[in-house]
Amino acid sequence: MKLSFELSKKGRKAYSLPSVDIPIGTTSLPKEYLRKNLPRLPELSEPDVIRHFTNLSNLNYHIERGMYPLGSCTMKYNPKVNEELVRLDGLANLHPLQSEQTVQGALTILYELQNYLSEISGMDEVSLQPVAGAHSEFTALLIIRKYFEKKGEHRTKILVSDSSHGTNPASSTLAGLKPVQVKSDTNGLIELKSLSELMNKEIACVMLTVPNTLGLFEQQIEEIAKIVHKSGGILYLDGANLNAFLGIVKPRALGFDIMHFNLHKTFATPHGTGGPGGGGIGVTRKLANFLPVPRIIKKMQNAKCKMQNYELSYNFPDSIGRIHGFYGNFGVSVKAYAYIKMLGNLGIQEVSENAILNANYLMSELKKYYELPYEGPCMHEFVLSGDRQAKRGVKTLNIAKRLLDYGFHPPTIYFPLIVHEALMIEPTETENIETLNEFRDALIKIDEETRNNPEVVKSAPHNTPVRRIDEAQAARDLDVNFYK
Ligand SMILES: *Cc1c(COP(=O)(O)O)cnc(C)c1O
Repeated sequence: MKLSFELSKKGRKAYSLPSVDIPIGTTSLPKEYLRKNLPRLPELSEPDVIRHFTNLSNLNYHIERGMYPLGSCTMKYNPKVNEELVRLDGLANLHPLQSEQTVQGALTILYELQNYLSEISGMDEVSLQPVAGAHSEFTALLIIRKYFEKKGEHRTKILVSDSSHGTNPASSTLAGLKPVQVKSDTNGLIELKSLSELMNKEIACVMLTVPNTLGLFEQQIEEIAKIVHKSGGILYLDGANLNAFLGIVKPRALGFDIMHFNLHKTFATPHGTGGPGGGGIGVTRKLANFLPVPRIIKKMQNAKCKMQNYELSYNFPDSIGRIHGFYGNFGVSVKAYAYIKMLGNLGIQEVSENAILNANYLMSELKKYYELPYEGPCMHEFVLSGDRQAKRGVKTLNIAKRLLDYGFHPPTIYFPLIVHEALMIEPTETENIETLNEFRDALIKIDEETRNNPEVVKSAPHNTPVRRIDEAQAARDLDVNFYK
């Protein structure tokens, strides 16, 4: 494809306007700030511009084009109505420094969203201030630290599972707590024995991911909770995978004391390539006083006519303080609110039921062809291993690239680290059976190719606008011109 500069023809314009009826060429700007030469911009007609950018966008793979087996963690399909709603004038044009009286609607949305998340999680209080999963983990660990400081206990370590997301040990370290690894057993779940052995009065908290990164639901959470609570520790839920059990089980009921939500993963914010996020943490009462400020409180403004009023309150002396400007990423919260409202109680539950059904269907269809190191049933995702194919000389990376030729975005590969040649597949709730079957057939076909024609897989992709790119170069040299 040509650059817009290469398409440029002198004098072509994308607009046609009447001539100006005010004097031109006069300005009050100091002379030294005026440009000497006109900017070097391409000159194109309107259809040139539209076609150029449409064609460019067609080079990309995107969720409007096909399935993303990366799932909720990266790019699940998000209903467009949420985008419409967040762009309403009354929401999009608010200024964060407006007086509280003039943003009562916005505060109502945030307050009610907190309540919905409390309802979904069973937690007593929720804060929407953190703006990502990792940010929430960090916030939660500061809360836990303060909780123990207040109790006069000196606890300096965190237990994290060896299958956990890299952010778990990273946020522990940032919060000044030392991460210690707990091993998974051969079923991919936490080993109760190692956990008990590691548990002592130095451990502030145990971080569990449910379902874990293998897509498996920990079987013994209540036992784990007992062990942790017996030695006075806090049980933390990394709730980034909440997409798998919305409306089915409340984390609080399992014994968790604190958790985070990834609003952008579970509740309708497209966020591939690091777009805006929404964290949000939920806590039980004993941790509530440490939540970040400001907190939204509801007041009766006028008892007689039942007028209610929301306020941002800083009056929480034990709070860890502020961890983000204003009140988090408001737009992400609005989308989460609209999404939950739209689905209602039953719809929320159906999201997870369909996500689980789709993942189990694909898993059982594919396990004849690819090794399944940890037997299910799985939750919203499952992890295959490309070990069999690797023995034929074709690595998982090649399989992922070959999927592009069949019109699918590849799944997450080489994660979690405890699976060799891992392929982690999360189809999400919105894919229908026809799409799932097409995806399955592509992976079966590729398996066949690893036997009959391994070279075609090893040199994939063949049909994409760009072939294999140097993945490290992009980080070092931002001026990558693929079309040289
Ligand atoms: C995505 C994810 C995180 C981190 O969330 P971010 O919003 O990307 O910071 C943490 N834990 C798990 C299990 C995740 O999937």
